[in-house]
Amino acid sequence: MKTILTGIRSNSVLTLGNYLGALLPMVRLANEHSDDMNVNIFVPDLHSIISDVDGDLQENIIRTIKYYLAAGLKINKNVHIYRQSRVPAHSQLCWILNCVATMGEMSRMTQYKEKSEGRESCNVGIFDYPVLMAADILLYSADYIPLGEDQFQHIELTRNLATRFNNKFGAEIFTVPVKTAEQVKFMGVDEGIRIRDLLNPEKKMSKSTAAENSKIMLNDEPSKAAKKIMSATTDSLGKIKYDMWGQPGISNLLQIEALVNDIPLHEVVTKWAGETRYGELKKQVAASVSNMLTDFQEKLAEISDEEVYELLEIGEKYANEVANAKLAEAEKAFGLR
Ligand code: ATP
Ligand code: MG
Repeated sequence: MKTILTGIRSNSVLTLGNYLGALLPMVRLANEHSDDMNVNIFVPDLHSIISDVDGDLQENIIRTIKYYLAAGLKINKNVHIYRQSRVPAHSQLCWILNCVATMGEMSRMTQYKEKSEGRESCNVGIFDYPVLMAADILLYSADYIPLGEDQFQHIELTRNLATRFNNKFGAEIFTVPVKTAEQVKFMGVDEGIRIRDLLNPEKKMSKSTAAENSKIMLNDEPSKAAKKIMSATTDSLGKIKYDMWGQPGISNLLQIEALVNDIPLHEVVTKWAGETRYGELKKQVAASVSNMLTDFQEKLAEISDEEVYELLEIGEKYANEVANAKLAEAEKAFGLR
């Protein structure tokens, strides 16, 4: 049986961008495949601590799992939810793979270069986390790892480490995940969704942006979120058209309207074509976002901590079994057993 693996860092409350661009597509993919594939959803809490955490990490972890459930994740026997730190094999395999990875290839990781740039000192975790990612993937023989484009290089690293390890020991110990091009095909997207910053629509919406009105958080009061949409930056062209380059603010609103209501973008674009009143569009999008948040927050409130802990107990038992078996194979190969 093939395996899909995915996780989202839970360092803070998520934005509407994280929800529409990462969480919701993942939940749809999981629901589509969980009858005949393993779907591993893990909370990468060891990855969280390479940078600062907003609020309480434990609370963030539990909330992130609730997000998946509130977004409609269907649970069946093939869906496994676990915390990375509760499966020690991740750290253990990471060390073994550290002895396979080279300084040269690790130094070429763009994410490391970007994240360490301009910092006086940078923790070793920021340098090494792609190896931990490789362990996250290889322990479960994952084939598909739906990820943002910024992480593709790490998939290639994982493929290289797995292949090098297998060659060194002349055995197929690790399953090499599929190439990034095939990952993209599997995800069924031609281009990634990028929700824009409401005040500076040339940029993407990010949870770390300071300006409150630039982003919608999933825990925003629906009426407050509506106000943020009403005050979104547009342009002075006076026509409603989807053109991310020429009219990013308006295009972003059309995109949000489509995704929040699960309507194809072209239908929304056609509906508004020829209209000139930006205020009307904003009112409509504000209502859609506010309804979506009301609904989402209601669902979230219905999910108890107990329910999450029960899922984790089952998921972590499974994850430890699978991961420990794979770790043992790797340890044997190196003569550690
Ligand atoms: P930060 O500002 O801390 O980088 P972020 O909002 O960019 O936060 P990440 O933790 O970097 O969020 O990314 C989490 C997931 O959300 C990734 O899969 C990323 O591709 C996706 N994502 C982030 N921002 C957006 C956005 N504006 N639109 C769509 N998807 C997004
Ligand atoms: Mg980011």
